[in-house]
Amino acid sequence: MARVAFIGLGNMGGGMAANLAKKGHDVRAFDLSADALARAKEAGCLPVATAAEAIEGAEAVITMLPAGRHVEEVYEAAVFANAAPGAILIDCSTIDVATAKRVAQAAADRGITAVDAPVSGGIAAAAAGTLTFMVGGSDDGFARAEPYLSAMGKAVIHAGASGAGQAAKICNNMILGATMVATCEAFVLAEKLGLDAKAFFDIASVSSGQSWSMTSYCPVPGVGPTTPADNDYQGGFAAALMLKDLRLAAEAAADAGADTPMGERARDYYERFADAGQGGKDFSGIIRMLRGE
Ligand code: NAD
Repeated sequence: MARVAFIGLGNMGGGMAANLAKKGHDVRAFDLSADALARAKEAGCLPVATAAEAIEGAEAVITMLPAGRHVEEVYEAAVFANAAPGAILIDCSTIDVATAKRVAQAAADRGITAVDAPVSGGIAAAAAGTLTFMVGGSDDGFARAEPYLSAMGKAVIHAGASGAGQAAKICNNMILGATMVATCEAFVLAEKLGLDAKAFFDIASVSSGQSWSMTSYCPVPGVGPTTPADNDYQGGFAAALMLKDLRLAAEAAADAGADTPMGERARDYYERFADAGQGGKDFSGIIRMLRGE
């Protein structure tokens, strides 16, 4: 088992670090929050006072931070100065493609291998160790990161070169955001046309309108499997995080010269939803805004 530095022990990182410790790794955990450090200690990690202390002597350095600027800051301030030349750097945060590539290049310039490895699956999957990881980096980087990621997830997929993991993540979530808005719209129209929501679900779930947003995450309470809709849109995947991912997709599309009108429309809707103070609600709660509630 290896010594692992884990930086960023929030909603996602807390569960992920706990799973590495459970699998027998020696996890040196750091976060700016004292509460997060206390939880990591209870989960079997060794909390340390600085990022440098976590990184020194670690075979793998894993970060799970809010956004690109936090990742770049931690890498510049602590990771590059303290990582052993043979360490593998694994960033699991969802960040912009450009920063992911820049950080990996800065690591390579210092002779250190880095991969981007964002995740699909929420807080429950992080706690259960059933995340999906999409990895950007060299074949060697992927092979070295894979055992650590497997200890925290159910699937680890090599997406391509540096930044490809982030590209896969934001493209996936652009589909998710757009299909959720489309699914919500269809339910609202069905209601206005006098169609029973359950009857519509039963039909669309086995017809060409089917999608994950329809079948696995139905935005209407009491219809389909139990989802955040059945819990007043609490828990699940916060609309603010969906908005973050749709903004990343829009930025990436502008950089790449790609036309993504549905993704941009979904971003505009989630912006309105967040501006109305609903950013903390599950992203399927946008159906209420579409109903005019
Ligand atoms: P979070 O805000 O709960 O956790 C982030 C943690 O990073 C916090 O504990 C914070 O104190 C810590 N942190 C910030 N700056 C730091 C620094 N300089 N040094 C050390 N620690 C620092 O966020 P989260 O929900 O755990 O999300 C983490 C990442 O995972 C984000 O990029 C998010 O987009 C992505 N993600 C989240 C979900 C989800 O459902 N929450 C799902 C998939 C991906």
